[in-house]
Amino acid sequence: MTANHDPYALAPFRAEFRDAQTEKAFLKHVEQGTARHLKIALAIWAGMVLLFGSLDYGDLGLTDGFYTLMTMRVLQAVAIACLIVWVYRRPNLASWSLPLTLAEILGFPLMFVIFFIRPDIAAWNVGVICIILISIYVFVPNRLMYNNLVALFGLVGTLVSLGIRGSELATLLPLSVVMCLPIVTGYVASRRLQLVQRQEFSLLQEVNRSNQELCDEIERRKSLEAELQRQATTDPLTGLSNRRQYEMLFRRERERCARQGGSMVLGIADLDHFKQINDTHGHDLGDQALKHVASIFLESLRHSDVVGRFGGEEFILLLPDTQMDQAKVVVERLREQLAGTPLGAESLSIPLTATFAITPVRVDDDTIEDIIRRADKGLYQGKREGRNRVVVAA
Ligand code: GH3
Ligand code: MG
Ligand code: MG
Repeated sequence: MTANHDPYALAPFRAEFRDAQTEKAFLKHVEQGTARHLKIALAIWAGMVLLFGSLDYGDLGLTDGFYTLMTMRVLQAVAIACLIVWVYRRPNLASWSLPLTLAEILGFPLMFVIFFIRPDIAAWNVGVICIILISIYVFVPNRLMYNNLVALFGLVGTLVSLGIRGSELATLLPLSVVMCLPIVTGYVASRRLQLVQRQEFSLLQEVNRSNQELCDEIERRKSLEAELQRQATTDPLTGLSNRRQYEMLFRRERERCARQGGSMVLGIADLDHFKQINDTHGHDLGDQALKHVASIFLESLRHSDVVGRFGGEEFILLLPDTQMDQAKVVVERLREQLAGTPLGAESLSIPLTATFAITPVRVDDDTIEDIIRRADKGLYQGKREGRNRVVVAA
């Protein structure tokens, strides 16, 4: 594919997309409509074949010639009806150009035979053939070049039949000019229609493509926004709420609890001797330990509880709708869980413990800092008393 390859470029003479894939996609796109047109064209064809039988009857009466002609016409109509059913069941047949062309070519000799059986209605027959020629262009959805082939066959067949039957060249020449008129008219009309249909298809594809691009862009921006939101509200190492986020959640939950008459507890956790872990196993493993602790906290607490990274190896816990005695049980369980889940890394099992302090959120607490300060005192007490414990700072 060259750099400036246009998939929607049109071949003006055959009125198709130059690109085979685009043409195929177009035919698929118009398949239902194409099949519908073909069924209508076939039904009109069958009707006309039978209708002209009435002319035979008027001229021949119930003679052998009439029966022969009628049998031929009925057979032709039945064959066409079968084709209609076939297209009804498989609409993609309508875009099947070659078999359609062959069916048209096979149908024509039945018209040529009439020149020999009913020479008296030769002029009528030429008229009908002209109508068929123009109808093939206008109504039968086919590739334009195949239509030209069928038209040529119809023209040559008519002239040859009339020639065999004894018509002079002086008659055949003007007749061929007359017959070329519906062919040219049909070709021009069909070509214009096919070009317009394909231009519409190109525009539709262009609109669809733009829409898709727009949707992709919206999706991209949405995920970018979500990512920015995540970065602005979470701690990058542990994925826990950062200070800004847990302070906002604290205010929201505090107001909600006050409205609903519930109580709330704030806790802080400080890992014990964490410096030693860093010093012994390196800073990277220390980071791993912080993530490990964060995941234990998140898994163990309720979904409505908030876990934030307060800084360094300290964490903040917000327990809305919780009484102090309940909080004591919950945080004690959390402490046990942490102490019982050492960090497994590179065949090592590194025990981790933390000291916790919990305090109730009181009505007269002005800011979160006041509450944290109170909890902090409890934390120091816990460290002094030997670490790995839960202290209630009332
Ligand atoms: P204590 O039991 O008294 O709390 O002892 P500690 O060693 O935990 O206390 P200290 O405050 O002396 O040390 C905290 C250590 O946490 C110091 C610092 O290296 C480490 N730390 C803080 N933030 C990070 C971090 O993001 N990653 C890692 N790996 N270590 C951190
Ligand atoms: Mg600390
Ligand atoms: Mg510590």
